[in-house]
Amino acid sequence: MNAKLKCAVIGAGAAGAAAACAIARRGADVHLFEQFSLFHDRGSSHGPTRLFRTAYFEHPDYVPILQRAEKLWRDLETEYGGALYDKTGVLMAGAPDSELIAGVNKAAGDHGLDLETLSHDQLAARFPWFSLDEDMEILLEHDAGYVRADKAIAAFIRHAKKHGAQIHERKRISTWRKKSDKLLLEVNGERHVFDRLIIAPGAFASSLLGDIGAPVKPMRKTLFWTAPGDDRFHCTHGFLPFAIQQSDGRFYYGFPAVDDDGVKVGEHTGGTTVASPSDDPAEARKQDRKDVTAFLKRHAPGLPSEFSKEQSCLYEMSPDSHFIIDKHPADERVSFAIGLSGHGFKFAPAIGEALADLALNGEARPDFDFLKFSRFSG
Ligand SMILES: Cc1cc2nc3c(=O)[nH]c(=O)nc-3n(C[C@H](O)[C@H](O)[C@H](O)COP(=O)(O)OP(=O)(O)OC[C@H]3O[C@@H](n4cnc5c(N)ncnc54)[C@H](O)[C@@H]3O)c2cc1C
Repeated sequence: MNAKLKCAVIGAGAAGAAAACAIARRGADVHLFEQFSLFHDRGSSHGPTRLFRTAYFEHPDYVPILQRAEKLWRDLETEYGGALYDKTGVLMAGAPDSELIAGVNKAAGDHGLDLETLSHDQLAARFPWFSLDEDMEILLEHDAGYVRADKAIAAFIRHAKKHGAQIHERKRISTWRKKSDKLLLEVNGERHVFDRLIIAPGAFASSLLGDIGAPVKPMRKTLFWTAPGDDRFHCTHGFLPFAIQQSDGRFYYGFPAVDDDGVKVGEHTGGTTVASPSDDPAEARKQDRKDVTAFLKRHAPGLPSEFSKEQSCLYEMSPDSHFIIDKHPADERVSFAIGLSGHGFKFAPAIGEALADLALNGEARPDFDFLKFSRFSG
C-alpha cells in the first residue's frame, strides 16, 4: 500500500539512518539527505562505541523500548553479518541514593530485571583497577554492553540502500513547507516534493523545527582514550564498560579498547552548552580533560593516566533530557526525533521503527507515548 510513497529523511545520524532503513524495508521510495559526508564527526553519532543498558536509570518506561531495540539490533546483525551489540555486561557504581544506582534499581524492580550486586572485595578481586568509595553500591548488569556505533551506522546505510533508498550526501535541507497535497523541500537551492518527511537533525534541529519552538540545545562533550597497549583493558580480555556516579553527582563512563586505541572515557554529566552546533570551544575541551583526569585518578587509578587521543561530540539536550519523538503538530505527514539528550544511540533501530510507523501509519507503538512533544504544551 505504501510502495509509491515518496519519503524524505533528513539526517544520516543514528536516528535518520535507522529510519531510512526501516521505512525503505517497508517499500517506500526513500531519499536520505545528509548535509555533510556520511560518517562525519560533526554531530552526535560518530565513534566506535555506545553503552547499552536495560535497567534504565533515566526512566523505567524506556525498558520496553530497549527490549525492542535489542531484538532489532539482533535482526540487523543477522542481515549485516557481523556483531553490532556486544552484550558484555556493564559495571555500575554510586551511592545507593544516587540518580544512577537508585534509578537502575527502580527500573530493574519495575520490570523484573536481573542485577548482580558485588561486594568491595569481589570488585577488588575481579576488577582491581577501580577504587570506589566504601558507601558505593556496585552493580553488574549482565543484560547490557555496548553497541558498535560506527559499524551500526554503516549497517543502516547499507541496508537502506539494499532496500532501494537513495542517499544524498552534502545536501542540506534549508526549508520545508506544505505545497497542496505534497511537502516541498529546498535542497541546496533545488526544490523537491515528497509525500512524507522524517526529520532527524540531532543538534541542528532549530533550523528545521524552530517554528514549533523545538526546545533542543546543543552541548559539547569531549571523549578521551587512555594510552593503548595494556591487553587487560581490551574487549578480547573481558574488560567491561563501566558507569560510576561520584559522591559529587558527576557521572563518568568508560569502554574497553575495541581496536588499537585504549580505553575510552567520558563524563555524562557536565559539558558546555553552545549557541551553535559548530561551536567547539578549546576551553571546554581543556576543562573536560581536567575533569576526566581527576576521575581516573580518584576512581580508576589502575587505568593508564595518559591520553593518546581525544574527540569532541554533541549532545542535543531536551528540557527534561528525554527524547521527543512525534508527528509535527501542524502536519501529520511530518514526523521527527529530536532531543536524544546524550543517550539515544542504543535505541536507534527502535527509534527508526517508530519514525517509520509515524510516517506510514500515523502512530508509533504505545511504548513511545511518554516521549510525545505534547508533554511540553502544558
Ligand atoms: C560523547 C557522547 C557519548 C554518548 N554516549 C552514548 C551512550 O553511551 N549510549 C547511547 O545510547 N547514546 C550515547 N550518546 C548519544 C547518541 O550518540 C545520540 O543520542 C545519537 O547519536 C543522536 O543521533 P541523531 O541521529 O539524533 O543525531 P546526529 O548523529 O547528530 O545526526 C543528525 C544528522 O542530521 C544532519 N542534519 C541536520 N540538519 C540537516 C539538514 N538541514 N539537512 C541535512 N542534514 C542535516 C546532521 O549533519 C547529522 O548528521 C552519546 C553521545 C555523545 C556525543
